[in-house]
Amino acid sequence: MLTRLETGLLTCFASATTRWPAIVTGVIDDLHTSIGELDSSKQEDKIAEGKKILEQVVSLKHELQHDRSIEPLPTAGVASDCKSYNEELSAIGPLTWQSAPWLYSECYLYRKLYTFFELSQHWKSYDIFARQKIETFQKSASAVAELALRYKALAEQLKAHHTNADSEAIQVLFSEFTDISLWGNATDLSLLVTVSLEEIQKLQGAEVRKQNSKNILANDLPAAWEAISSEKGGRVDFVLDNSGFELYTDLVFALFLLDSGLADTIVLHPKSLPWFVSDVLPHDILQLFNLLQDTEAFPDHRADIDYLVEKLIHYHSEGQLVIRTSSFWTTYAPFWDITEKEDPCGGHLVWEDLKDSKLVIFKGDLNYRKLVGDIMWPRTTPFLTAIQDLASSGLRVLTLRTIKADVVAGLAENREQELEKEWAALGNSNPLGWAYSGKYALIQYSSGEN
Ligand SMILES: [Mg+2]
Repeated sequence: MLTRLETGLLTCFASATTRWPAIVTGVIDDLHTSIGELDSSKQEDKIAEGKKILEQVVSLKHELQHDRSIEPLPTAGVASDCKSYNEELSAIGPLTWQSAPWLYSECYLYRKLYTFFELSQHWKSYDIFARQKIETFQKSASAVAELALRYKALAEQLKAHHTNADSEAIQVLFSEFTDISLWGNATDLSLLVTVSLEEIQKLQGAEVRKQNSKNILANDLPAAWEAISSEKGGRVDFVLDNSGFELYTDLVFALFLLDSGLADTIVLHPKSLPWFVSDVLPHDILQLFNLLQDTEAFPDHRADIDYLVEKLIHYHSEGQLVIRTSSFWTTYAPFWDITEKEDPCGGHLVWEDLKDSKLVIFKGDLNYRKLVGDIMWPRTTPFLTAIQDLASSGLRVLTLRTIKADVVAGLAENREQELEKEWAALGNSNPLGWAYSGKYALIQYSSGEN
């Protein structure tokens, strides 16, 4: 049987030889389509430039498939973060696509792709993944409507409970919305089985949560609740992962925090360049507001969806729902670098910003890999050890992650062996596959005061 380390390396190899070329092929197809949609009599320059970019993307795919060396990024005419990629490359290189550290090469791939557009005149703001993101979101129309319906009913009751300061009910809802945001596109909304606060606290709701919670391998939510509920108002931050339905669940969670008074400001941190296919760009957030108003794509429960969108737009225009990007989120750097003043990737500015937050929620798999430095920690390593200096950074960190890559910290003794048995017993040929399946999750918290 393969050891865990060997499996980790295989995953990287499989990414470089299979998954990434497939993603780049998708980019080529998308560009072809976009160029084909242009008016050749009026947009000659843009078409010519698009074809040049297309050639660059095709050549990148060739380099990937033939395991060529990873070359320094251009530094003229691009943002300054390219320089830090090059500094790291000269420190750890020479590298080829298949031999490079997984986190570095995967981040480099998306950064490299973006340079082709960044250096162009007509394609600077083009999002190579926009089509996929929109199509996928539109496919989740029924779940979108369902959650809007539930939210509106809850919000009206929240208003009453908010004034009565019924903290127990608010805590139950905090747990529900955390779960919905955690499971993101995997959720079938079965968590919100009922619309009344009273009913949610009854056995049925608790049972559903209990069933689901057996797949949450570490759960520090009570500590995060203590932190967030210790004072009214304040600011909560979301370091986002994916666009589409997951972003929608994050926004509903954010609405709940604002409506319940647990926060008075939410800061959303999307990426500043097309990233890992489905990651949120600032434009995606505003576009989601627009898409939700499309009565053809989202025909059901219109009144409930409109209610939700109006609230989101209201909070955004009042400055209570803020969108803020940093190039730090699209570097290869582990997040504990933000504690270092001299961090070449500019992470310290992120720390300066986040230190005013009462809770920073990191969504998803890649953010988790960066929180723990993408190191193959023994899986029983405490989360507070795995995040290194972040544990004493003064930042309250909450990670909500379904496990899609190998790195996991904070498991109880023997849990890993149990999971392998459990996964094999479900009929899976590779017992180690539980760690890539997305079926298990982690909710881990650091008070920043260790
Ligand atoms: Mg993502």
